[in-house]
Amino acid sequence: MEAIDIRRQVVIACRALGIEGVTRGPVGHVSARVPGTEDEFFIKARGVEEEGLEFVTDLDIIRINSDGAVIEGADGLTPPAETALHLAVYEAQADAKSVIHVHPSWIVALSAVGRELLPIFGSYDSQAAYLALQGIPTYQSSVSIHEMATGREVAKVMGTSPVCVLKGHGIVVSGKSVEDSLHLSMATHELGRMNWLAAAVGTPQPISSSDYELFDQRQKRRSNKQVRREDGVSAFWHYMERRISGYGGDVV
Ligand SMILES: [Zn+2]
Repeated sequence: MEAIDIRRQVVIACRALGIEGVTRGPVGHVSARVPGTEDEFFIKARGVEEEGLEFVTDLDIIRINSDGAVIEGADGLTPPAETALHLAVYEAQADAKSVIHVHPSWIVALSAVGRELLPIFGSYDSQAAYLALQGIPTYQSSVSIHEMATGREVAKVMGTSPVCVLKGHGIVVSGKSVEDSLHLSMATHELGRMNWLAAAVGTPQPISSSDYELFDQRQKRRSNKQVRREDGVSAFWHYMERRISGYGGDVV
């Protein structure tokens, strides 16, 4: 994909996260590697006229290098305070093409009482179920990630996982594309919402071990797993583009 297409995807992902209530107001950011580079990134910037993520346009996106310095962007825009979190995840996960950091209320509430995101469903949302079955690590501090040293601590806890919960703070997600990181962010948000709802009326029960095994086997058996997954991501992305267009306003 061309750089302009990736930049547009960053805008779409921001809007989708805002419209779906995955984060609040202007809190949170999406970034992506600039195609053809290993150390340049598009990221949603901060600025005096900053609004909620659902209103992000192309003008809110800046290009930065791996030191967090702005290479390209409108006057008055600066990288987010937690840019180091993005850079540290890219540094640790060489195959990450996009990183999202948001503050989903359901997940922050659950982390505050020490509840893990359990695999309480299967086919309801297979992406979310598989994430939970694999286990989602939790970074135990609620501080904002302003320095690379702290970002690297998070990346270490995250390991090779595509998702990490930041206790009392939010989540960070890495994807193989912007589509993938948005899909993973939405799935994690839904996992948190469903765990919260289950906990509100009883004690959440993970799916049975036999269900777990069947689910795991099916995931591994899919010879064309990657194709299917990409199809799923694309269908999801198409849906999100439709959702965004329904709210009016130009993306760029
Ligand atoms: Zn944050």
